[in-house]
Amino acid sequence: MSANLSAETVALFEPLHGECTCGNIKYDIVARPAGQPFLCHCHNCKRQTGSMFTSNLIVLRETLKITGKYKVWSSEEDRKARGDDGKEWGGLFCPECGTQICALPDNIPDKAILRIGTLDPKDLMRLGKPVTEMFCARKIGWPADVEGAAQFEEWPTRG
Ligand SMILES: [Zn+2]
Ligand SMILES: [Zn+2]
Repeated sequence: MSANLSAETVALFEPLHGECTCGNIKYDIVARPAGQPFLCHCHNCKRQTGSMFTSNLIVLRETLKITGKYKVWSSEEDRKARGDDGKEWGGLFCPECGTQICALPDNIPDKAILRIGTLDPKDLMRLGKPVTEMFCARKIGWPADVEGAAQFEEWPTRG
């Protein structure tokens, strides 16, 4: 455990456990997450997962304990090649089965955006339903708004 994690942060928190599809990567979230579950409808999330949106939870990177071989993909080279001035970001994957465990945006270097579909079902149930939806302007067609969740056109903290 990192020395930066206070005993208070870790106390009384039952770790959340998850893994990739093939079981090569296993992980625990060992302290309370940094936020509440949210959905993201942005184009990157669609492409990375092959789905219509991602289901996520922001956790401190030092609370995410991973075992097994993983690969981190970064958008940096791809972004430069396209002359894109957007923010860099990346994702952590299983090199065997391709499951994405989390996104690692460069603008929040101390945090990871966990893809919560990789959690064990019983731990996923502990989280409850999403409280926010991001990039709703890029929501395509049929996904209905999550009842009771706040819908944002883009990323709501963008300054
Ligand atoms: Zn795997
Ligand atoms: Zn997204």
